[in-house]
Amino acid sequence: MNMIEIITKKRDGCKLTNEEIAFFITEYVAGRIPDYQAAALLMAIFLRGFDETETTQLTQAMAHSGEMVNLDHLGLVADKHSTGGVADSTTLIAVPLVCACGLKVAKMSGRGLGHTGGTIDKLESIPGFCTSIDQRVFFEQISRIGLAVSGQTPKLCPADKMLYALRDVTATVESIPLIVSSIMSKKLATGAHIIVLDVKTGSGAFMTQPEQAQQLAKAMVQTGSRAGRKTAAIISDMSQPLGNAIGNALEIKEAIDILSGHARGDLLDVSLALATRMLRLANIAKSDEQASIMLNAALDNGDGLAKLGQLIEAQGGDMRVLSDTSLLPSAKIIRPLKAKHSGLLSATDCKGLGEAAGLLGAGRKHKDDIIDPSVGLIIKKRIGQQVKEGETLIELHANDEDRLSLAMHKLEGCMRISQNAQLPKLIHGTIV
Ligand code: URA
Repeated sequence: MNMIEIITKKRDGCKLTNEEIAFFITEYVAGRIPDYQAAALLMAIFLRGFDETETTQLTQAMAHSGEMVNLDHLGLVADKHSTGGVADSTTLIAVPLVCACGLKVAKMSGRGLGHTGGTIDKLESIPGFCTSIDQRVFFEQISRIGLAVSGQTPKLCPADKMLYALRDVTATVESIPLIVSSIMSKKLATGAHIIVLDVKTGSGAFMTQPEQAQQLAKAMVQTGSRAGRKTAAIISDMSQPLGNAIGNALEIKEAIDILSGHARGDLLDVSLALATRMLRLANIAKSDEQASIMLNAALDNGDGLAKLGQLIEAQGGDMRVLSDTSLLPSAKIIRPLKAKHSGLLSATDCKGLGEAAGLLGAGRKHKDDIIDPSVGLIIKKRIGQQVKEGETLIELHANDEDRLSLAMHKLEGCMRISQNAQLPKLIHGTIV
C-alpha cells in the first residue's frame, strides 16, 4: 500500500477502505510514515470529511494502536467523558451517585489543558490522593468498592497522542471525524461497556454552536454503538461556568458541598442528567423517572458522598476532607472583582474565565506546567441575576500578587452587565 495514493484518494473526495485506514495508523505509529504525509492526509480528511464507516474504522484502528483494556471480568462497567468545560466537576458528582446505585465505573481521566480543567488534577488536590495506580489495583478496587479513577497510561492509544500533536500544529483540530476518532478511540481502549458523553456548547466549549455540538454528539454515539458499546450523549451549556468554582481544590469543595446536600444548581442538574443516562444504559433504571428517584435518594441519604469517601480512602487520600474542607489546600490572598455598574448579568466569556483561573496557576498552557491546587475563582453571579454597582462578581483566590493582577485584568471583560438577559438553556439535547 502506498501513502501517496491514500492521500490522493482522500484529496479527491473518495472513500478510504478499512485496509487503507489501518495501514495509515499502523505505519504512522511505527514511524514509517513521515509527519508531512500524515499531516497531508489529516488536512484531506479535514476538508473532504469521513463518512460514518470511515470514522468507525479510524476509531478502531487508533484504539488498537496500543493496549486494549478488558473489563469483562468485572461485569458491566461504565465510563463518562466530557469534551471539556469550565467549573465542570460532573465526574466527581455523577460517578459516586451512579456507583451508590449499583453501577461500576472505571474512569481513566486526563489532566486539564488550556482553559478546561481535568478530573485527575482536581482529585490530586486532596492531600494524599494518588491517581497513578497499576492495572491490578485498578481492577481490584473496582470489584471491591465499585469505582476507580486513574490517569491514562502511555500504553493507551499512542496513535491519538501522535495525531493530536500533529493536528494541533496543522490547523486540523476542529474536524468532527478527527475529534470523534480521538475521543472515542481512548474510550474504546479503556474497555468500558457503557459510555456516556457530555458534549459542551457555548463560549467555554470547543464547539461553540449547539448545532455543531449536536453533530459531534451524534457522530460519537454512532461510533460507540457501531463499536459495540452502549453509548449516549447529552449536549450541555458552557456559555457560563457550570459550577461556581473554577480551580482544583475549590472544585473538590463544591462537589463535596453538593454531595452533602448543602448546594444545588446547574452543576448538580447536569451531573444528574449524565447519571440518568448511565443508569438507563445499564438497565439499572427502567425509566428516567426511576433513575431520578434512585439518584436523588443516593444524594439525600448520603450514599453518594460515602462513595466519594470510599474512592478517596482507597486511593490514599485524606477522607476527612468530606467533613472538613479546610483540610484542602487554600490560597493566601482572596480578592473581589466588583461590578462597575448595576444591571443584569447577560453573558460571560466562559473561556476567558477558565483562562483567568489558568493565569492564577490553576491550569496549564503547556502540558508540563505545574499547577497550584489552591488557586482559582469563585463566580458569585450567574446569567440572568441582578447585579448592583460595587457588588462582588468574582472572588479571586491567589498566592501571588503578579498573577493576581494579570488575572484581574483578564477578568475585567469576562462578565457582561446589561439591562436585559436571556437565560441560556442548560441541556440542549440528548442522543440515545
Ligand atoms: N479532546 C480529544 O481528546 N481529542 C480531540 O480531538 C478533541 C478534544
